[in-house]
Parts: sequence; C-alpha cells; structure tokens
Amino acid sequence: MPTPSLYAEARDLLLASAKTLLLTGAGVSTGSGIPDFRSPGKGLWEFVDPFAVASIWGFRTQPDLFYRWLRPLAEKMLQARPNPAHLGFAALQELGLLQTLVTQNIDDLHEQAGSRDVVHVHGSAQGARCLACGNWVEGKHFWHTFLADSTLPTCAQCGSVLKPDVVLFGEELPADRLAQAQEAALTCDLVVVAGASLEVMPTADLPLLARRRGARLLLLNLGSTMLDQQADLVIREDVTLSVPRLVELCRQNILDKMTG
Ligand SMILES: [Zn+2]
Repeated sequence: MPTPSLYAEARDLLLASAKTLLLTGAGVSTGSGIPDFRSPGKGLWEFVDPFAVASIWGFRTQPDLFYRWLRPLAEKMLQARPNPAHLGFAALQELGLLQTLVTQNIDDLHEQAGSRDVVHVHGSAQGARCLACGNWVEGKHFWHTFLADSTLPTCAQCGSVLKPDVVLFGEELPADRLAQAQEAALTCDLVVVAGASLEVMPTADLPLLARRRGARLLLLNLGSTMLDQQADLVIREDVTLSVPRLVELCRQNILDKMTG
C-alpha cells in the first residue's frame, strides 16, 4: 500500500511541472470492464491465436473470424462507462495540470469522461474505414448495425468489408498521432504513465525519450514494468483508487494557495 508521503511526492511532481504528458494503457479501462485485448493468455485470447485473428493479414484473409472475435469486445466497449481514473484525468486537465493525453486504448472512455484532444496512438473504435476506397464510417452507427444483425459490415460505396479504425498486429501506428506523442515527449517536464505495461513499441519509447532529456517520470501501475528502475516515483495501486486520490491532493493544494 503506497504511503501518504508517496502520494504527496507524486502531487508535488505534478504541481512542479509546466508541461505534463500522460500515457494511459489497458489498465485504465479494465476498471470499466474492457479486457486488455493486447495481452495474450488472458480473456479474449484464450481460444485464438492473436496473430492469426487480430492482425491485418487475418483481417484481409478471414474477416468473418476477425469480427467473430471482435464481437464480445465491441459489446463491452459500447456498454462501458468511464471509471474514477478517467474522470480524475479529465479533472487534472481541467485544473491545468495535464497538457497532452496519449492513450493506447481504442475506447472513448477518456472522451466520455470529458478529456479533450486525446491522442489515440493505436487508433480508435470511433470509426471504421474501407481499405479499398478509403470511405470512412462513423463508429456508433457502424457498431450498432454490426451488433444488431451480425453480418459483416460492408462499405456503402464499393461493398468491401469495413475495418475498424484501430491498429491491428502487423500495422504501423498512425504517423500523425505518433508524431504528436513524440513531440510531447520531447518537450514535457513530466511523464505520467498509468495502467500501461509499456511492452508495445514504439509507444514504450516515449517515457525514455522524455527521460533522456531530464523529464521526470511518475508511474501509476498496479504491476511492475521495465521502467520501474528509471522512474522518479512508482505508485503501485489500482488506478481507480490512485488517480482520484492524487487529483484531490492537487486540487486541495491549489485551493489552499488561492485562499491562503
Ligand atoms: Zn469502399
């Protein structure tokens, strides 16, 4: 259990930083009932080979298998609501303590919580695209139709199977979003990593990129990561507990300064 003084240190890191980059991963959304779909051996991966199903090759050769695998995840995503970690990060942005939010998550829970300008480096389920003609379809309509009649979603313009706007195995990250994330890593004073094991490149590089230029590093992770040794501070607690607690400490400090 992290001590109160550890939380006070984390608060001070946030308050001392003029430019903070937050990097969130699957651990932030598991508290909302969305399984970590990139971790083989758990949940969604029990009966399938991820590289066969959720890869760009799998999608191109057997889109029906891909969509059968995706269905339970899509159902969970449509029902999910933000948890206290999402709400806490939105509050942090509101307080002016968070300048860039980069997420590996494809859900829209940060946006639902009120966060703005979220950089989805692994894409987002908020849309689908036709790989044949480039046609883009808005997400909500796409998912509801797919879940209602469970036929393969096809492009209204050319009839090809639509692909959700998320990065599959074997695909590169969207260059514009990756550039935004790298730019933030090259100019920030503090990187906060939350609920991310940071095993997926090249996102895993961002904290180190910042660290090399002297930025501070705060980890909010229940489990240990390869970055623990490099971090200024590690708070090992469920993010649905640690984030609201940290935000409250920051808010209190700001209020005290205004009234004191
Ligand atoms: Zn098309």
